[in-house]
Amino acid sequence: MFSLIRRPSLFELCESVIHLVYPELCVACNRELPASDNCFCLSCSLKLIPFQMDRPSDNAFTDRFWGRVPVEWGAAAYYFSRKSPVQKALHQLKYRNNPDVGVKMGRYLAIKLKNNPLVPHFDLIIPVPLHQARERLRGYNQSAMFARGISEITDIPVRTDCVKRVLATSSQTRKKRMERFSNVSEVFAVLKPDVLKGKSILLVDDVLTTGATLELCAAVLSRVEGVRIGMATIAIADK
Ligand SMILES: [Zn+2]
Repeated sequence: MFSLIRRPSLFELCESVIHLVYPELCVACNRELPASDNCFCLSCSLKLIPFQMDRPSDNAFTDRFWGRVPVEWGAAAYYFSRKSPVQKALHQLKYRNNPDVGVKMGRYLAIKLKNNPLVPHFDLIIPVPLHQARERLRGYNQSAMFARGISEITDIPVRTDCVKRVLATSSQTRKKRMERFSNVSEVFAVLKPDVLKGKSILLVDDVLTTGATLELCAAVLSRVEGVRIGMATIAIADK
C-alpha cells in the first residue's frame, strides 16, 4: 500500500535547513517569518489594505488616468499609507538592496490575477524602465523584479528590451519634472515596435502616485499600432 504523504525532495530539505539557519524576516518589522514565500508576518499582514479587484477597468487605479491615456485594466497589490508595512517593503526594495521583495509582491498580485475571471489576457509584461545610470547604481530595476514575480505565476513573458528611459531624473525632483514634460519622447523611447505591435501589454511599476511616469511610458507605447495597455503596481498612494 502506498503512502499519501509525499516525501520532501532534496531541494525542499535543503531549503528547510537554510530557513532554520537563516530564517527570513518580515520586511516591515524584522520578525521571523513562518514561511519564506511571504513578505510580511501575520501581525503586519493584518495592517495591510489589499486593493479590491471587483471593478478592474473602472476603479481608483484606472480613474487616475482618465482623460490622460487609455488604460484598459489597472490594479495594485495594496493601498499605500505612510509608515504602513507596504511603505517599509517599498523602502527595502528601492533603497536597501532587497530585490526579493519585488519578486514576492509580484507573485502575490499574480495569484490574485490568476483567480480573477475579470482580468484580461496579457501578451507581455513591461516594467517601467529606469535610466541606465540609476539601474547600474541600484544594481537592479525594482519594477523588473515585480514583473518577474508576476511572470513566475502567470507565465506571461517579461520584456525589458522594448522601451528605454532616455532621461534620468532624481527621485526628489522626479514628480515635478515629469509633470512638465509635454513631449513624451523626452523621457521614454520605444525600441522594438515590431515586438509590441497588436499586443496587450501589462505595464508595471513599483508605486502609483500622480501617475506621471506610468502615463508617459504608456503614451509612447500606445503610439505603436494595435497596442492595448493594462497597468499594475505594488502600491497605490493618495495623489
Ligand atoms: Zn511584520
